[in-house]
Order: sequence, then structure tokens, then C-alpha cells
Amino acid sequence: MERSGGGAHSDEERLPLQQGLETERAAAEAKQPRSRFGRATVRAALAVCFVAIPAVLLLQRWQAGSPPEWLFEIEPPAGGDRDIQDDLPDDMSPSQQIGYDKFLGGLLIEGFNEISCRSRYQFARYHKNSTRIPSSYLLERLRRQEALQKKCGPGTRSYMQAVQHLMSGQGINMTDCNYLFLTIHAGLGNRMLEIASAFLYALLTNRILLLDRYKEIGDLFCEPFPGTSWLIPADFPLNYGEFTQSSPESYGNMLQNKVVGGNTDRSLSGSRPPYVFLYLDGNYEFHDKLFFCEDDQQFLQGVPWLIMRTDMYFIPSLFLIPSYQDELSRLFPEKDAVFHHLARYLFHPTNSIWYSVTRYYRSYLARADKRVGIQIRIFEKEGILQRNGKFPHVLQQILSCAQKEKLLPETSMTDDAATATENNRTIAVLTTSLTSWYSDQIREKYTEHRAVDGTRVEVYQPSHEEYQRSRNKKHNMKAVAEIYLLSMTDVLITSGFSTFGYAAQGLSGLTPWIMFRSENHVVPDPPCRRAMSIEPCFHQAPYYDCKAKRNGDLGKVVPFVRHCEDVSWGLKVVNQTQL
Ligand code: GDP
Repeated sequence: MERSGGGAHSDEERLPLQQGLETERAAAEAKQPRSRFGRATVRAALAVCFVAIPAVLLLQRWQAGSPPEWLFEIEPPAGGDRDIQDDLPDDMSPSQQIGYDKFLGGLLIEGFNEISCRSRYQFARYHKNSTRIPSSYLLERLRRQEALQKKCGPGTRSYMQAVQHLMSGQGINMTDCNYLFLTIHAGLGNRMLEIASAFLYALLTNRILLLDRYKEIGDLFCEPFPGTSWLIPADFPLNYGEFTQSSPESYGNMLQNKVVGGNTDRSLSGSRPPYVFLYLDGNYEFHDKLFFCEDDQQFLQGVPWLIMRTDMYFIPSLFLIPSYQDELSRLFPEKDAVFHHLARYLFHPTNSIWYSVTRYYRSYLARADKRVGIQIRIFEKEGILQRNGKFPHVLQQILSCAQKEKLLPETSMTDDAATATENNRTIAVLTTSLTSWYSDQIREKYTEHRAVDGTRVEVYQPSHEEYQRSRNKKHNMKAVAEIYLLSMTDVLITSGFSTFGYAAQGLSGLTPWIMFRSENHVVPDPPCRRAMSIEPCFHQAPYYDCKAKRNGDLGKVVPFVRHCEDVSWGLKVVNQTQL
């Protein structure tokens, strides 16, 4: 029903007391118009303040989230904080205005809130278009997995029933909702590799992937699945933090004690426990490694809850399990792009990390003609503890790799050469390391001796944390930020054996030059080599031929799983079709 008199009048109707007051006042105010005007204005202004200010604050908070926690000291970009790549005023602008493929070839779907997780749809803005196209089958399976995660995830009836069964200890009830729960530890590179591995395993075995909520994953990465959470609820009843390799719940231990039948005479029809703990950390042993055998996979399919602890990229060994091979080939026709696609699908840094990353990029890297990323991870020892020291041979290795491979220009020892050649090119070098010594030395070298071709070389390093502190939230945020900054460069030099570098190369799709670990403090010859593929290395891959039931070299079984360049006993996926 329409009322005459407009909004003010209808307000008065709803507030009779006020109406009365207003009527009385109207007469008085006819005599004192200014005073009425003043009081009414004050009241109106107060009302507006009470209602509007919190609303605006709420709206702003909703739009921007809490203010970013800046991770690095960053000078604003020269010429203002504009995103020079697409000329947007700042990161608050909606990204749909820009003509890049924000869905990454269909890996990502529409419908997530852009504001609460900027990186999800802005990743493509800061990375070159990938030459690796995800297969339509991978996209289909991702959508199915998303539906499963939603159907069975935390808070659903299925989840609650599954938890009840887990604790009841009564007959095993395999339903449509079966779970892989990944406990989290280790550094950030390792974490990203283990999460990607667990996700693929969950997808292959139709399980829901859930992650340990206490390892600040929520502070580092946004939720990847729509309408649900991948964090295990706080009231998950098992004391999983106490599980160890030798716990009775550990699969390797069960096999060893013949609780579920030994590897040679296991009865697959035997009863399954409601859950099994899979210990797949780098120091795992023979019975734990049987996880990678076909028979054991058949057995585990009948266990509703798997609780996994790993710090490794175990995907290469999944390619060697016969029952997964066809599916993996359909999912990844380009075999060496597994981590590349999964990482771009799963990992979206939270806003604080993303703002720091993109601001750093725009301040120091964006304007250069070329960006060279150098990831420096020191595994050398000096005495028994020193791991991040100043090692001249490592500095020499970095420089000879970069110059020999023409990634950085040679420097001149004379001033003549510097003046003889001039060009307007700038190379921005982004180094990441726990120490600042290497970047200081490289900067000094290019400041004291100019490049022979006249290129200007600028050296940047976002942080130097000195030592690893995996329980410190801000430290871990910086690690994620630097992995993403490395992935935004045009050329990548990485330290062999380091998962930090693997994560960056996988995200970017850049084939890195790997610096090998030196022996006896001598620069290896050659100092670095181009990687065979962008895939990470599975460091402690099993060395056991499940079919023949004896040790065997698994780097020679199929053409697309080879030994890694940097870890001779490790395995990595390559795009080869011949052995
Ligand atoms: P990996 O040990 O080299 O395989 O790499 P991880 O990322 O798994 O673990 C190393 C951890 O040390 C990282 O997560 C960081 O906590 C720290 N770290 C190592 N190198 C760097 C670096 O260059 N920058 C930062 N910010 N942290 C680093």
C-alpha cells in the first residue's frame, strides 16, 4: 500500500510518540525556525552517524578485509602505486575489467568472492599465460572433486556420520564420503608439494582432502573449494598429533606386525580398520613405502579414513602404480605439468601476502626489461650447525651459472668498456635467501664493475630471515610471498634439492637452471644445468619393484618417470615417450 507524504511522514506514522513531539515542536519552531533547524540537523546527523558510520565501516571492512599485514619494507613504486601492467589504480579495483584469462584455462571457476581473496583471480595478471593447457578431463575431474568436497565436507551430515563411525569402532562403513586427512609440518615448499600430492591422491581415490587446521594454512592460503572448507574441524576427535611411524595405527607398522597381512600373504578380504595412519615422511622405512604398491592401494581403498603425514612430492610414484596410470594419462596428457596445474588450482595466497607480493613486484620488478629470479638455499655446513653462512664458492657458482648461461651480463674490469657500450636495458634480479650476503655481493659486483653490454643490473631481496622458523606465522607468510615473487620472474635459477625452488618453478611454468650442491666447497662443473622438466623431484622415492618383490631401479620402468637432475636417487615426472 502506498502512503502519501513520503518517507519522513511515514516515519512519523510509525513513531507516534515522536509524531506528538514533532507536532508540539512545530508550533514552537514556527517562532524559532533556526533553532529547530539546528536541533533537527544535529539529531539527523547523529542518527546518520549511528547508522551510517558503522555501516560504512562494515562495508569497508567487508570489501577490504582487515588491513594488510605488510611483510616487506617497500618503497612505493616510482610514479605512484599504480599497477603498471594493466594501468589499474591499485589492487582494490575489480579484476574483471582486465582482459587476461583469470580462470587459468578453466582451472578456476567463477563465483568466489574476489575481494576476500584477491590472488585467486589476479594470479594471471602477474604471470605469463601458461603454454600448458589443462586437459578437459582434468577440468571435469576438478569439478567432480569440488562437488564431493562440498557434499562430504565439514559441517555436512555425511561428515558427522563419518566421524561417528570413525569413533564407534563398529563395522567399517564405506560410503560415498571417504577422507584423506593430511597433517602438516615442514617448510613452505615442502608443504605445497605435499598438499598437491595429497590432493591428487584424494582425487584418484575419490576421497575428500582435509588439512590440519593448526598449521596456519588458513593464514597462508585461501580456501580452494567453493562452498566448503578444506580445514579439518577443531573438534576432530583423533589425537593425530601423537601418531608416529611406530604407532599401532601406522600402516607400515600394521604390515610389519601382520595386523593387516604381510606384503606376501595379505588377505585383501580381511577386515579393514576404520582409519589408517600413513607415515610417508622422508625417513620412512620399507613397510611404510609399500603404500606405493598396487596390492596395498587395493587394500587401502576399503579404509574410510586415511591420515597422512608426508613432507614429499610423491606424485612420480603414483605414476608407477598400474591402477592409476590410465587415469593419470587422461588427467595429464602433458605429464610434466602436474604440479603446475595443481598448484595454480589449489594455492591462492591470502590478501596480506598478495598485497605484499604485488606491491613489491610493482615497486622493483615490473619496469625492468627482464626479471631474473635466483633462489639461494644453502645446505652447506660450516662446523656442525652453520647452514646459511657466507660461502664464496656458492657466490661464485651463482655468478658463473648466470653469466655462462647468459642470464646476466658479464662485468667489465675496466671503466673503458663501461663507457664504450651503453644500452637502456635494465635487468632486475630478485634473490631469495635466508641471508642477505649473496645479494649484497652480487649488487656490489654490478655497482663496482658495470656490465660489458651496458645493461643496468639491479638486485633486490625482499627479506633475509637468517634461519628457518617454521612455527612463526609471519616468517611462513614471507616464505610464501617469496615463492610467488620468484614465480613472477622471466628466468629462474634455483638451488638443487630445495623444494622452495620447485614450488616457484611449478607455479611459473619456467624451466629453471638448477645449481647442484657442491662437494668439498668446490664449485661444481658445470655450475648449473637446465632442468628436464618443471616438475618437482620426489626426494626419497621407494627403490622397490612391487611386482617382482625385490629392489629395483624405478627410474627405468617407464619413460616419463626418471631420476632427478639434482637428487640422483629421487624420481621426477618428465614428458618423455621413450626410455
Ligand atoms: P627446502 O627446505 O629448501 O626444501 O624448502 P622449504 O620451503 O620446505 O623449507 C625451507 C624453509 O626455510 C622455508 O619454508 C622458509 O621458512 C625458510 N626459507 C628458506 N629459504 C628462504 C628464502 O629464501 N626466503 C624465506 N623467506 N624463507 C626461506
